[in-house]
Amino acid sequence: MDVDYLIIGQGLAGSLLAWELIQRDKKVIVVDNNKENASLIAAGLINPVTGMRFVKSTDVDHYLPFALHYYQQLSLYFQQTFYVEKPMLRVIRNDKELIACQKRLIQAGYQDYLSKITPSFPLVNTSYGLLEQKQTGYLLTQPLLKRLKKYFISKNAYIKTDCLYDDIKLVPNLIWKHIRPKHIIFCEGYLAIQNPWFSWLPFQPVKGEIITASSPKKIIDSILNYGQWFIPLNSHQFRTGASFDRNISDTKTTSSSKSMLLKSLNQVYPDLILDHIINQQAGIRPTTLDKHPFIGSHPHYKNLVFFNGFGAKGSLQIPLSCQNLVDHLINNQPIILTNDISRYYEKT
Ligand SMILES: Cc1cc2nc3c(=O)[nH]c(=O)nc-3n(C[C@H](O)[C@H](O)[C@H](O)COP(=O)(O)OP(=O)(O)OC[C@H]3O[C@@H](n4cnc5c(N)ncnc54)[C@H](O)[C@@H]3O)c2cc1C
Repeated sequence: MDVDYLIIGQGLAGSLLAWELIQRDKKVIVVDNNKENASLIAAGLINPVTGMRFVKSTDVDHYLPFALHYYQQLSLYFQQTFYVEKPMLRVIRNDKELIACQKRLIQAGYQDYLSKITPSFPLVNTSYGLLEQKQTGYLLTQPLLKRLKKYFISKNAYIKTDCLYDDIKLVPNLIWKHIRPKHIIFCEGYLAIQNPWFSWLPFQPVKGEIITASSPKKIIDSILNYGQWFIPLNSHQFRTGASFDRNISDTKTTSSSKSMLLKSLNQVYPDLILDHIINQQAGIRPTTLDKHPFIGSHPHYKNLVFFNGFGAKGSLQIPLSCQNLVDHLINNQPIILTNDISRYYEKT
């Protein structure tokens, strides 16, 4: 079978890329092994201002409106909600953070994302106050990926299997099993560290764990950010996470992460009564050494393409990056400079 693009991986990256290419009338096949999908575990948070210094994410002014519009279009198409906009309260933890926060509030370019410092908020334990953040929310990644998978299946564009690298023949033409693609686009998440053609890209994957639980009492209806985060899913259910562990030897959940997450939540929200832990999940973020995505073609095999490295910012960065890569592949537009893997070509 001849196709334009064979996409390896149906996480958020592979899914949105396949969707975008199909919208542009390209023949696409998506292959996924249903093994280790970070997108299905992720909280999907979009938070434009992060870190101890309250800094805007790189190019957030471009990424954010694009992502919000993109998710809205998908919602309209599938008649299903995929993005929940919700204000975030960032707990200020010390004097240093308070000063940084006050500085940002009067700084140009931050008004769209920050409201004000509020000294207290009902039920939240704070000594230094809370920063009210705007334009925050979370992507419902699991429903979105399930819906897109159904769509790909309906288009005969989905195969559930492991793509073994040894089965890919590069010359004289690309071929994998019975499929002859013009391009193969690798979207394998952190598993790409095993990809023989792109092993020179410096990933720094980080394991994370998340707890989903319920409370018998009505919970706070804002996202709380206190180093970890608390996300209300409805009036009684919430998620809390995520741990940060450089040991990626497995994706098993651990009792140490569980107690750390519950302890930090209890410190900031002591009144929260937890009656049931629905689940605890672990996954590995495809984080990169320079914190920018890895996008572009292999320096020698131009029809092998890489779309990965979205770290903990997949929900924010994937939609625009996806359009950028598709414009590059179809119309030869340049890849966003900070994301282009040509910055590491000398390492091959
Ligand atoms: C605990 C945790 C919390 C997170 N929280 C957030 C958050 O709040 N906000 C946010 O934006 N991001 C968050 N992230 C990061 C987010 O998950 C990633 O940015 C994004 O989901 C990466 O998507 P991806 O498609 O690149 O990779 P993945 O979602 O991992 O998808 C890769 C897919 O490819 C498949 N695959 C790999 N190799 C092969 C092969 N050879 N053959 C077939 N299939 C293959 C895998 O099994 C998988 O299904 C979090 C991640 C974790 C782990």
